[in-house]
Amino acid sequence: MYLQPEPLIFDLSSKGRKAYTLPDLDVPAVHFPEGYIRDEVKLPEVSELDFVRHYIHLSQKNVSVDSVFYPLGSCTMKYNPKVNEKAASIEGLTEVHPLQAEESAQGSLELMYRLQESLKEITGFAGVTLQPAAGAHGEFAGVLIMRAYHQSRGDVKRIKMLIPDSAHGTNPASSAMSGFECVQIPSDSRGNVDLEALRKECDDSVVGLMLTNPNTLGLFEENVLEVCKIVHECGGLVYGDGANLNAIMGIARPADLGIDVMHFNMHKTFSTPHGGGGPGSGPVGVNQDLTVFLPGPIVAKVGGSYCWVTPEKSIGRLKSFHGNYGIMIRAYTYIRMMGSEGLRMASEDAVLNANYLKVKVSPHYKLAIDRLCKHEFVVHGDIPGTDVRALDISKRLIDYGYHPPTNYFPLIVHDALMIEPTETESKETMDAFAEVLAKIAEEARTQPELLHEAPHFTPVTRLDETQAARNPVLCYRG
Ligand SMILES: *Cc1c(COP(=O)(O)O)cnc(C)c1O
Repeated sequence: MYLQPEPLIFDLSSKGRKAYTLPDLDVPAVHFPEGYIRDEVKLPEVSELDFVRHYIHLSQKNVSVDSVFYPLGSCTMKYNPKVNEKAASIEGLTEVHPLQAEESAQGSLELMYRLQESLKEITGFAGVTLQPAAGAHGEFAGVLIMRAYHQSRGDVKRIKMLIPDSAHGTNPASSAMSGFECVQIPSDSRGNVDLEALRKECDDSVVGLMLTNPNTLGLFEENVLEVCKIVHECGGLVYGDGANLNAIMGIARPADLGIDVMHFNMHKTFSTPHGGGGPGSGPVGVNQDLTVFLPGPIVAKVGGSYCWVTPEKSIGRLKSFHGNYGIMIRAYTYIRMMGSEGLRMASEDAVLNANYLKVKVSPHYKLAIDRLCKHEFVVHGDIPGTDVRALDISKRLIDYGYHPPTNYFPLIVHDALMIEPTETESKETMDAFAEVLAKIAEEARTQPELLHEAPHFTPVTRLDETQAARNPVLCYRG
């Protein structure tokens, strides 16, 4: 069954049709002077029903966690409890103004303070800023903090940032934007940072290492203590990319592992609808020595009340006002609702689900690295003996009603499909997904054209992704 293209609202237009009813005039009618009403703007004239259907159909084109299974690796597309939305729409929180006097916004400041404290408790850090607007923004803040730390000690020859080859592209981007040179560290056959290669690069020109743990292969860094020790011994700092915190909350604290500074992806670990570009929130946690460099202002509790303070050697402000407050409310609500036991259980279940799905999928797709995974795993999406690639598998999954996994990342795995079920999916959902993946592997051998031509049921099929991102066609062209 192929979907019929829906008529566009402009094509439904019929002169004189209206989607509104106005009350009778209770003032004298006036005519606009010539030139104010533009005839050349061709607006559709449709009934209220056509108008409603237009917007309902548009909204249904949105793919979301609320509509389909969304195993987009590294993005932690977990269910977003609706109570978060309720909290984020409380009038006292939505109507507060960022320039309001502190004493008239104590409730909001307390919420932010408690959120800072919760994040410290979860990770073991001594200080937290809520300012950055996303993970990548948090990384940039964190790297600037590392730079400020070295500079404050007069240690200005440090220019090398060490970055494992499995890292997310934002890691080298944040380093380069901070003026550092990126040096790639290879992974070993178990997916860990190669210790020998790391030792070789560690000298007094090293700013630090950017470490993702669990890494983007979904694997816990088995030598994390040794890795941090090697970097610290040469005077470098360890940056933690916290995108994968959902695998270790309540189990391991990044600060205890030797991480000095780390960003959180609130919109991943602590729920919040995301995808399609935001909004997000990327707080940064730091060890005691780095607290003086945090971006300011941050919320402090002095006596019984809350106020804004700017740390002594602050790197400055990174965001207008105080960050994406709506996302902070959602994250805080989520953390309080889950409690410490709940957060730990979320991580345990996320890891259990990923390992379950990995075992179900592995007879049909080759695992990138075959060992116990954390919250996600990576398989090769090329089917041996066929010309089917990861992208074809992903596009065919859309036909079956699933959002595809992450494609072609991490870069060190050819034809990577990175699958993250999260803790909120049921066994039945994962069983059904695994069955569909098995069926697609079979189709790849018997009817590969089905995969090459997929998706079949969407309004548009395979777009030129670069063109679509750079030159989107957003206007009606009748
Ligand atoms: C998502 C992600 C980032 C970037 O976070 P954003 O919030 O999307 O800016 C960085 N590193 C890893 C490993 C990620 O998965």
